[in-house]
This record gives sequence, C-alpha cells and structure tokens, in this order.
Amino acid sequence: MRNLCILGSTGSIGENTLDVISRHPDMFKVRALTANTQVEKLAKQCHQFQPDIVVVANSQLANQLKDLINIKVTRVLFGQEGLIEAATYHHVDTVMAAIVGAAGLLPTLEAAKLGKRILLANKEALVIAGQLLMDVIAKSKSELLPIDSEHNAIYQCLQTSQTGNLNEVEELLLTASGGPFLNRPIETLDRVSPDEACAHPNWVMGRKISVDSSTMVNKGLELIEAMWLFKIPQERIQIVIHPQSVIHSLVRYVDGSVLAQLGEPDMRTPIAYGLAWPNRIDSGVKKLDMMKLTELNFRAADVVRFPAIPLAREAARLKGTAPAIFNAANEIAVESFLNHEILYTQIVQTIDNVLNEISSEPASSLELVLEIDHLARIKAKEFIKRISN
Ligand code: NAD
Ligand code: MG
Repeated sequence: MRNLCILGSTGSIGENTLDVISRHPDMFKVRALTANTQVEKLAKQCHQFQPDIVVVANSQLANQLKDLINIKVTRVLFGQEGLIEAATYHHVDTVMAAIVGAAGLLPTLEAAKLGKRILLANKEALVIAGQLLMDVIAKSKSELLPIDSEHNAIYQCLQTSQTGNLNEVEELLLTASGGPFLNRPIETLDRVSPDEACAHPNWVMGRKISVDSSTMVNKGLELIEAMWLFKIPQERIQIVIHPQSVIHSLVRYVDGSVLAQLGEPDMRTPIAYGLAWPNRIDSGVKKLDMMKLTELNFRAADVVRFPAIPLAREAARLKGTAPAIFNAANEIAVESFLNHEILYTQIVQTIDNVLNEISSEPASSLELVLEIDHLARIKAKEFIKRISN
C-alpha cells in the first residue's frame, strides 16, 4: 500500500492521478490533498478519498472548506506552511508534485529531503532549482520519477534507474506536437487570443501549460528538465516536432538503436507508471489502435516560429540561475497574456528581455535562486508595463 500526498489535486494532473488511484483502492491510500482556491472541487475529493490533511491558499478558504466537508478526522491547513506540512506528513511515502509553477518548489524539496518518493509533474521546480533538487534527491536517496510524458517515455526507454549508464546513449529526442500554431501564418501570431492558445490539438491540460505548449516555452522547460533528470548536456537533447503526439519521446543509443515509447496522449499512462513503479497497473487509458495510425510525421522545430527554443537552450547552457530567470519571466508573461495585458508574441519577448537584463550566476543556494526568481518577476513586470503603455 502506498500512502500519497497530491500537491495540486484539483488540477488536470491532480484529477487524473485521483482517477488512476480510484481504480486501485487496495494499492493506494490518499493521505493529503492540496489545492489553491477551488474549495468545492476539493471538498468533493475529500468526501471520496477521506484524506488526513487538506490544504488551501488562505485561512478564509480553509474556513469555507471546513464548512463544506465537515469531516472530523481531516485537518484543514493553509498557505505555504500547510503545503510543506502535507508533503512532509509522516504517513506519506509518495508525493505527486502537480502544482503549477514555482509555488510547487518548496513542498517538493522538503518532501525529497525526507526521502519520500517524488512523482514530478511540476517541471518548473526542477527548472528553477535543478542542481539543488538533484543534490537533495541524491543525498536523501529518494526516488524521483518523471511524470511529464516526454521524460516518462525517456525513463521507460532508458530501462534503467536514473543512475543508469548514459555512456551508451548518444542523444535524447524530445517530441513536441507543435501546438495549435504549428502552421498558422507567423505574421498573424500577434492576434492570438488566450482561448486560441489554450486549445491544444492533442492534450487537455491546465491553461498555463497550454500556453507554454503553444509558444514551445514548454519544450524549453522540458529541455532543461531532461538535462537535470538524465544528467545529460543540452547539446545531446534534440527537439523533434511530431504532430500526432503518439510517440512521447525517444532515446538514440550508440549502436544505432532508437527506442521510443508510444501511447494515447493521456497523462494517466505516465501517472500510473509513476504510481506503481517498478510495476505496471491499469490506467484506464484506451488502447492505442495501430491500425488507425496511418502516419507518424517528424520535422525540425522552426526557431523563427518558436524563438523560445534558442532562449531555453542558452539558459540550459548557462545553467546557474538562468533557467530560473527564464521560468519566472515566462510565468509573469503568461499570466499577463491570459489577462489580456500583452500580445501573444510579447510572451517570449518578455523572457528574452529579462534574460538580457539579469546575468546568470552560479545557483549556490536556494535563497539566492529564490531571490533571483523574485527579481526576474519584477523585471518582467517592468518590461510589460513599458510595452503595454
Ligand atoms: P492546473 O492549472 O490544471 O492545476 C494546477 C494545480 O496547482 C491546481 O490544483 C491548483 O489549485 C494548484 N495551484 C496553482 N497555483 C498554486 C499556488 N500558488 N499554490 C498552491 N497550489 C497552486 O495545471 P496542470 O495542467 O495540472 O499542471 C500541473 C503541473 O504539471 C505543471 O507544472 C505542468 O507543467 C505539469 N504538467 C502537466 C501536464 C498536463 O497534461 N496537464 C503534462 C505534463 C506536465
Ligand atoms: Mg510534456
């Protein structure tokens, strides 16, 4: 029996995780659930899964939730401290890190320090604090299993633990669908609306990652994520556009073999893999029908259409605080775009500007990384103010 904390249980990954868990009540016990503001959804989850701890953003929401759930055995906590308490709860052995953005970093880090198994969907945590998080994982000997579909695919193709022999690997190939604007005339990208950017052709996801997928910032974050997870330099990670989203990524070995993992574009497959690792369980995902796969296409990513890719490569090459700057500027820019404050094309312009304004330095401590993250957010807001006036 595994005892779980789900950070971000009301999100797309959180709900898919609970869906897989509900198929195997004998294998998993939900000990803690966390959400930001969606108290009603969280209350429903409490009634179904009866966790010991639940967490929301603030005390007002905590009181609302208490009124809704009325379950005596469930403790209702709030804020960052509540998130950390849930993730480090002594009954929990496995943490699904599925908060979106930098907000997920600290609880994930604290859980890793205690040696809990981390199922990592929250790629931003690894992008911001890659070296620090990997050092904590190594020291506490906790297991870090990637849930991001590409990294989960690579993990499966490596057929080893994350400490496996990478000398046999020539390169990793991260696939990308290309998102909704793969073929849209570039000169019309200024007019993209938030709803258009969130309408992903193959995957149903939260709004932030949907925008990131459309700009390919998501693939940039994933490049950095893969660099840390698999301890491989960014030059040995290729990005390949594969519009069908059937192959979730590939590993090219030195002997000429290329291994791929295929499946329906449904996050319950990597989630089930992480939940049951090293075993496999039913995920509820429909079978991939090979007879209906009439074509599988691949092409290089166009860096004029997707300028986020070279920016992410540069941040990955620099390491240090550069990836945190890249991520923070993007989080602010995406939020501004979703609030109709900037144009779609100004998201990546904001990242570019902030990366130029703050020079990268070694990520020597968590305090420094968080300070730079904060500074990058201020610079991003200043830039956005300038361009939107
Ligand atoms: P989502 O927006 O659907 O859900 C986010 C969750 O985090 C919600 O439960 C929300 O309440 C919580 N949250 C948001 N801000 C918070 C804050 N400040 N403090 C505490 N909790 C907060 O997002 P999602 O699509 O489920 O993505 C979650 C993470 O998984 C992201 O890092 C994303 O990049 C990654 N991921 C998602 C998918 C996918 O298919 N959705 C695939 C790969 C990776
Ligand atoms: Mg992904």
